[in-house]
Amino acid sequence: MAGGWGCPHEVDEICTKINSLPCSPGMKGCVLAGRYVFADEAKNARLRGKQAREAAVRNDNPPTADDSANAP
Ligand code: SF4
Repeated sequence: MAGGWGCPHEVDEICTKINSLPCSPGMKGCVLAGRYVFADEAKNARLRGKQAREAAVRNDNPPTADDSANAP
């Protein structure tokens, strides 16, 4: 059995999802963008934005004494 993942949008190294551009995992519009960290930091903008928004939400709602009392 072969391993690995194959993108259903890739046909002959062309992305059928993004204007028939050459497949470049993580590029803007790619199904993987914002979901994984890529070695090319330019492809991480969406993920970094998501992480910043999540951090802002956490900072707006700091845990209270009641939260720790209800923790399992
Ligand atoms: S760029 Fe992303 S969505 Fe497009 S074929 Fe490659 S892996 Fe799939």
